[in-house]
Amino acid sequence: MLASGRPFLAIPGPSVVPDRVLRAMHRASPNIYAGEIVEMTHALVPRLRAVTRTQGKVAIYIGNGHAAWEASLANVLREGDRVLAPVVGHFGRLWAETARAMGAEVVALPHPEGEAIDPARVEAALREDREGRIRAVLAVHADTSTGALSDLAAIREAMDAAGHGALLMVDAIASLGCDRLLMDEWGVDVVLSASQKGLMCPPGLAFLWFNERAEAARAGLARVTPYWDWRPRAEPARFSHFWCGTAPTHHVYGLSEALAMIEEEGLERVWARHDRLARAVWAACDAWGDGASLRLAVAEPARRSRAVTAVALEEADRLRAWVEAGTGVTLGIGLASAPGTFRIGHMGHVNAHMVLGALGAVEAGLGALGVPHGAGGVAAAARVVAAA
Ligand SMILES: *Cc1c(COP(=O)(O)O)cnc(C)c1O
Repeated sequence: MLASGRPFLAIPGPSVVPDRVLRAMHRASPNIYAGEIVEMTHALVPRLRAVTRTQGKVAIYIGNGHAAWEASLANVLREGDRVLAPVVGHFGRLWAETARAMGAEVVALPHPEGEAIDPARVEAALREDREGRIRAVLAVHADTSTGALSDLAAIREAMDAAGHGALLMVDAIASLGCDRLLMDEWGVDVVLSASQKGLMCPPGLAFLWFNERAEAARAGLARVTPYWDWRPRAEPARFSHFWCGTAPTHHVYGLSEALAMIEEEGLERVWARHDRLARAVWAACDAWGDGASLRLAVAEPARRSRAVTAVALEEADRLRAWVEAGTGVTLGIGLASAPGTFRIGHMGHVNAHMVLGALGAVEAGLGALGVPHGAGGVAAAARVVAAA
């Protein structure tokens, strides 16, 4: 009814693509053998290193997050290797299933929904692995199903305390460019991500960053199938090696522009913006939940991602439908096992007016549907914005 106007896709990926990125992609196909696209691709490498804060290598794939999962495992696992999967949600579960499908033995550490990875449990599981058969720990930084954010530095400390040589591999598909991530400082060996979340591009590019320990694991493998092998992509002898074939031409332009936007704002300020906007969302949810059944999926604020917020509410599906049809805001579906969850994506190209608008739309929906909720959610969010 009031939905005409610019829609807002407030789901946790794909995220809003900035007009600047769209304009950069709107062009005739470029020459892929020489010229701008070649120079731009070479220039992407140090710029991508900067967003994960690493001196390590970068491999880019034409693919989505699932491609990043498969690529990461293909370069470190031998048939029969074990991986430790401390699963806190839907995405950790799927990454572990990918490993299983590729022939790995998965040691799963399921966590209660809404909690982040418990480093003590990782340490205990590694201590039990006396033969050192666990090759890697698969940690999802921000699990997009609940919004639980795991403490990667603490997981690394736990691995070191166990004296175990497993690689720390991190899915930063949702968190990159939203939650603080310091790959080298935190001792992460492999980071994986994709273009359609904090990096503000359409889906289509997957990224791996890896350090020397991960390279050593790759060197120990008899073979990696050609498309997934990260070596030619990270050390291309020819331009086509970057991409294992034709470059994703328009994505290169889009990503280059998106990185320019991050560079202009400054990554620290990008993280601070996400932090403040996430706190505005949490403040609204706390107010709505006062005396009502609505609650945040992750109880502990320190363990919440700044990219996405999951909200448990029995009427979630009706609310999403009303908000989309009634206001032009699309909320994310529930991916938690508990029925009745919606998610608000606040990743990438989002600012205060967009987040306040989405919260206003939710508050209108709660009212229109007669869902019991505490008063003053949008006002609470506005106070968080005002205090910035
Ligand atoms: C979105 C997401 C994925 C999956 O990405 P696809 O592009 O859908 O394959 C994996 N992990 C996390 C944490 C995500 O947020």
